[in-house]
Amino acid sequence: MMRDELRHIPSVNEIRDKIHGLSHGSLSSTHALNLAKVIQKSVRSSIISGSADSAAYELEWHLNVLREQLAGSRYSPVINGTGVVVHTNLGRAPVSPETARSMAHAAESAVALEIEATTGQRGGRMREISWLVQQLTGAEAALVVNNNAAAVLLTLSSLAAGEQVVVSRAEAVEIGGGFRIPDVLQQSGAELVEIGTTNRTYAADYRTAADAGAKVILKVHSSNFAISGFVTSPSLQELHTVASETDSLLIEDLGSGTLLDTAAFGIEHEPTIQESIAAGADVVTFSGDKLLGGPQAGIIAGKAELVERIAGAPLARAVRADKAALAGIATTLRHYLKSDAVDQLPVWRMIASEPPRLQERAEALIARLDEDDVQVRSVSTTNFIGGGSLPGQAQHGVALAVSIPGVAADELAQRLRLAKPVAVYGRIEQDQLLVELRTVLPEYDDRLVEIMRSLVPRT
Ligand SMILES: *Cc1c(COP(=O)(O)O)cnc(C)c1O
Repeated sequence: MMRDELRHIPSVNEIRDKIHGLSHGSLSSTHALNLAKVIQKSVRSSIISGSADSAAYELEWHLNVLREQLAGSRYSPVINGTGVVVHTNLGRAPVSPETARSMAHAAESAVALEIEATTGQRGGRMREISWLVQQLTGAEAALVVNNNAAAVLLTLSSLAAGEQVVVSRAEAVEIGGGFRIPDVLQQSGAELVEIGTTNRTYAADYRTAADAGAKVILKVHSSNFAISGFVTSPSLQELHTVASETDSLLIEDLGSGTLLDTAAFGIEHEPTIQESIAAGADVVTFSGDKLLGGPQAGIIAGKAELVERIAGAPLARAVRADKAALAGIATTLRHYLKSDAVDQLPVWRMIASEPPRLQERAEALIARLDEDDVQVRSVSTTNFIGGGSLPGQAQHGVALAVSIPGVAADELAQRLRLAKPVAVYGRIEQDQLLVELRTVLPEYDDRLVEIMRSLVPRT
């Protein structure tokens, strides 16, 4: 089988001709020949390793990537019509326009990242962000790293290596992408002490473990699942009492980490970062690109002495954030400082969208598409926040149900994913293609109309 397939791999010259065909002569012959050699080699090794069954299919994949790369990039904007606000596969939180500008400016020029303007001396790259986090959360200091997974690993390896760390069985979770709390603890050199049961853990369980020698209590946001029914877990205040009476550290991985009260938007109250700090957590960690609404980052906030220890660990250098991410996090935090987060940050604009307003937009869009062959009507739906935030919490949504006579929903979905110049990612429910309006910001409505119209070839 494999031998057969190896014989089906086209010659370098055949591949080169195909490359010429799709690049319309924009690549030199030498360049096309070199690409053909690399592609042929890669197809061969995929067949040999068993990661691909068909040489033709594999070659087509490479040619498609080349076609896309010549046309633009996989990282160009798409419209999120899934209704999932923080969609990991679609790059999580889009940032505010001001944040995007600050990131682009920082990226394309030199910035005084580690120099104090007044003295010309070396200064800390975290000063501004640390100050913002202090103002917004009450934490004494903060540090920004690459993402929250890095924040958790760095925090545990700096503060808990060689120690016993107490985790409730209900919180020894897998976040996704292979990030499992027991594995992270092991990687950090700490020893996991699991307590309680899946559904019930008491403050007394933590106390018993701390009395037996555990030095760190780790509370983990359950993130992407919820257990309900006969469930108990102690509050952070209770854990703080146990931690201070047993002289242990209290670390909380908040996951999303919100600064705003989600209950103001018709969903359950998600514990805020400032509440965790007020309740006595020594260190909290959270993501930059979930409910914070900024670029990818992990933020570690807490007691100054502890944050300093974490910042000084060798691993901190390995997971440090770049200047663009720091600029983006600072601008994002400034939106909260200026109290315009709900108006400016896309994540909160989406969460704050009221169904009647979504319905109005749906009707306006439908009216504009009226005379076209695309059939569009509005349907009531259920939206989720996603990104491991607020599991099980839903909001009412409004979607456009789109159809074209004779075209199946999955084919239509594919046409939208391949639409130019902007692709649309919708979702399919009961054989209908839905484009959820909650996650399409109103400024994209014109483009949405344009793309819908382009779905039906004009004769
Ligand atoms: C999302 C999440 C993480 C990982 O954060 P990233 O920013 O994706 O690295 C860790 N812990 C919890 C509880 C999470 O929800």
